[in-house]
Amino acid sequence: MDVFELMATYGHEQVLFCWEPHVALRAIIAIHDTTLGPALGGVRMWMYPSEQEALEDCLRLSRAMTYKAAVAGLNLGGGKAVIIGDPQKQKSEPLFRAFGRFVDTLAGRYITAEDVGTTVADMEWIRMETRYVTGSPEGSGDPSPFTAHGVYWGMKACAKVVFGSDSLANRIVVVQGAGNVARHLVEYLVREDVRVYVADLFPEKAQRLCDEIGGTPVGAEEVYDIPCDIFSPNALGGVLNETTIPRLRCAIVAGAANNQLQDEYADAKRLHERGILYAPDYVINAGGLMNVAAELEGNYNPKRVLDKTAGIYDTLIRLFRMAHERGILPTEAAAALAEERLASVASLRRLATHSRGGTP
Ligand code: NAD
Repeated sequence: MDVFELMATYGHEQVLFCWEPHVALRAIIAIHDTTLGPALGGVRMWMYPSEQEALEDCLRLSRAMTYKAAVAGLNLGGGKAVIIGDPQKQKSEPLFRAFGRFVDTLAGRYITAEDVGTTVADMEWIRMETRYVTGSPEGSGDPSPFTAHGVYWGMKACAKVVFGSDSLANRIVVVQGAGNVARHLVEYLVREDVRVYVADLFPEKAQRLCDEIGGTPVGAEEVYDIPCDIFSPNALGGVLNETTIPRLRCAIVAGAANNQLQDEYADAKRLHERGILYAPDYVINAGGLMNVAAELEGNYNPKRVLDKTAGIYDTLIRLFRMAHERGILPTEAAAALAEERLASVASLRRLATHSRGGTP
């Protein structure tokens, strides 16, 4: 594994490998780009089959955070961390405290948060060792409702572009995943009289969500074949690929999952060629990041965050217009929006003072 070559490919600033023998902590922290501010991104705990896969996931996810923050207009950079291990069996206070100590050594260059396999309770252990952690119960808490709100408004923007109206009433939406984000998303959809189908790898989770909120449970393998208006991935990444895209029978793909496209370019092109409008994942799922960013800014106000997440509607409309005008894919337009903002801030002259490292 050539780490520097991978860092060069993805454009990373720094990667930290963390090892604590006492608890067998194996963690990686990747800082992609801090042009706009400190790198923020969750810590994922997962049973990676190899260190190589853990590193690549961490690099890919942290780069997406840079782009997500840039398009969302936040003053944050992109970072992410992974802990290699089984979240069902290997969690403990010392493990997360050990991780927190490594986060603290970065002195705020990286700020951590919850992600797949970690919870608010784990963040409390990390907080015992560092203040560079967000998403505590007394802070901004669970980001899922805010992510779901952004996805809901993002779906409306897609509907406006494809159907000429942003009303979702009587539309059919297939929701893949019955987790935290999906639960809140289905609430918004049901409230607007959407016909919702929900699938989860664990059928009882889909059943429970539908019993409690509404919608019809379907099998996890069926989701790609159901005729619908919107297919909404809210489970894991890589679900849009050369096998699944030909099966889709929808007009729009809009969901919260990170890294939905297995191949960022080829699969975006496949969707476009099939006439399916794709809402780039890191644009439509930025609501959770907006929420933690608000916590960091201070004076946290959930109502203000909800208003901001609804702004994903306008961002997507602007992005789709840009894609249309430039003859590029929505994913390329999203990258262009992010890179233009990063370049414009990076090119500002540095004004040296004594406290910022100028020569006395
Ligand atoms: P979650 O773990 O609560 O829910 C995910 C659900 O997907 C689980 O119930 C799991 O059983 C199910 N699942 C996994 N593979 C599946 C498959 N192949 N088919 C059907 N179901 C499957 O996670 P979450 O917090 O709801 O997040 C969902 C996705 O959104 C993740 O990709 C996450 O990275 C992304 N995301 C979440 C947030 C947030 O605020 N929570 C923010 C941005 C992005």
